[in-house]
Amino acid sequence: MRVKLVVSLGPSSSSADVIVSMLREGVSGFRINLAHGVLSDWVGMIRSVRWAESLVGRLASVIVDIKGPSLRLGEFPDVVSVPAGSLVEFCVSGYSRGEVPRIPFPHEEVFKKVSAGDLLVMDDGRARFSVVEVSGDCFKARALTSCELRQRKNVSFPDKEFERGYMSVEDVNALRELCREGVDYVDASLVRDAGDVKELRDYLSSIGCDALVIAKIETRKAVKNLSEVIEASDAVLVARGDLGMNFGLEEVPILQKKIIEESHKIGKPVIVATQLLESMINNPVPTRAEVSDVANAVLEGVDALMLTGETAVGKYPVEAVRWLRKIAERAESMYKPVTRRETEYVRKSLKKRYAKGVTELAEDLDGVLAIYSVKGTTVFTIASLRPKARCYAGVPAKGVARKLSIVWGVDVRVVEASNYMEGLEKLYASLLSSGDLRKGDLVILTYGLRDKEQVIKVRVVE
Ligand code: PGA
Ligand code: MN
Repeated sequence: MRVKLVVSLGPSSSSADVIVSMLREGVSGFRINLAHGVLSDWVGMIRSVRWAESLVGRLASVIVDIKGPSLRLGEFPDVVSVPAGSLVEFCVSGYSRGEVPRIPFPHEEVFKKVSAGDLLVMDDGRARFSVVEVSGDCFKARALTSCELRQRKNVSFPDKEFERGYMSVEDVNALRELCREGVDYVDASLVRDAGDVKELRDYLSSIGCDALVIAKIETRKAVKNLSEVIEASDAVLVARGDLGMNFGLEEVPILQKKIIEESHKIGKPVIVATQLLESMINNPVPTRAEVSDVANAVLEGVDALMLTGETAVGKYPVEAVRWLRKIAERAESMYKPVTRRETEYVRKSLKKRYAKGVTELAEDLDGVLAIYSVKGTTVFTIASLRPKARCYAGVPAKGVARKLSIVWGVDVRVVEASNYMEGLEKLYASLLSSGDLRKGDLVILTYGLRDKEQVIKVRVVE
């Protein structure tokens, strides 16, 4: 399959056997959400993914989703039911139940700027409040919907901006520990501009972490600064949960199209997430609407589909993956890439024009493309051009193979070689022995553009 599948790990899926089953079902990226759990849980998840890789014999990306500058409720033991129209008091600290429940919200900077009339949204938009009165360390808000409040829920104020740096102490500490275990991507939650992406990148390079950065597009600012954020990142995620809180729900499909188009234009992989198969949290079969939504995302040209609650807290994590694959396989048989290749992004780079040239050579010859790539850069470019030809990549390092495992249309394998020509021949041999190349196939073998001389081999399999 050319579309890739990513899942979020959580209580329903963090056991090693569920991870193994999901990997067998075709998952190639596992997201670890730092908004839930503690360091030992996350380390355990990374180790289980690596263990599953060796058992199943396929590599996968570990994607660590940082909290970013999120505003979250503090900790409290109960689920607090709030009827529509009633009042709740949010305070810097303290918790009590009672007629007007007091909920901890440990973000002093908010209390300085919040004012009566501000809107608060939580729980993918299911909980909405309007601020009625502010007094020092507390504010009272009226529930606009009946809802349930749980500790550590993400809160957003669609009409307000609070001045805050990007990296939190918790994110910094967690990344330092987790990068030692091997992280392939960091999901940059709630990014606002290219500066936020840079702050994260600078931190990663300061600790020697070679993880790539996925910009989660979920704030109003990120949408406003869309091109600069995508350009600054290695990949993009359409985070429909928060988009739906920060914009009207009816804007979500339009934003999704816009973000996917912009990612294609700039040549970055793009993932769609949240509520893809939401009803499968409780049911073994998705709704028609969900099936259509997933199929449409595939037809819009996403690189990968990412499950969130379905696999993190749902009752049917493996079934959800199976459905996702089934829908994606069917939809992609109808997918006709519309990616325009004559873009600024391709024109301004000789390496990218070379990648485009070999992609089109393979297509014109009805051939198979086999690329040996040391850092994977050429393969990322080729994937972004959506080659019609089958495309295989050989890379020398597991880390590169893992990173490429979530991009569209490329089958990646680790090939150990000391130079490019050896890399090509070993890739070819590996494709023959795996049965991916058959007698009569015409193969275009090459590597990314080098300094002096290029070799492109066109070979018919005997
Ligand atoms: P989250 O991101 O699950 O970390 O909130 C996904 C989304 O907002 O859609
Ligand atoms: Mn989010």
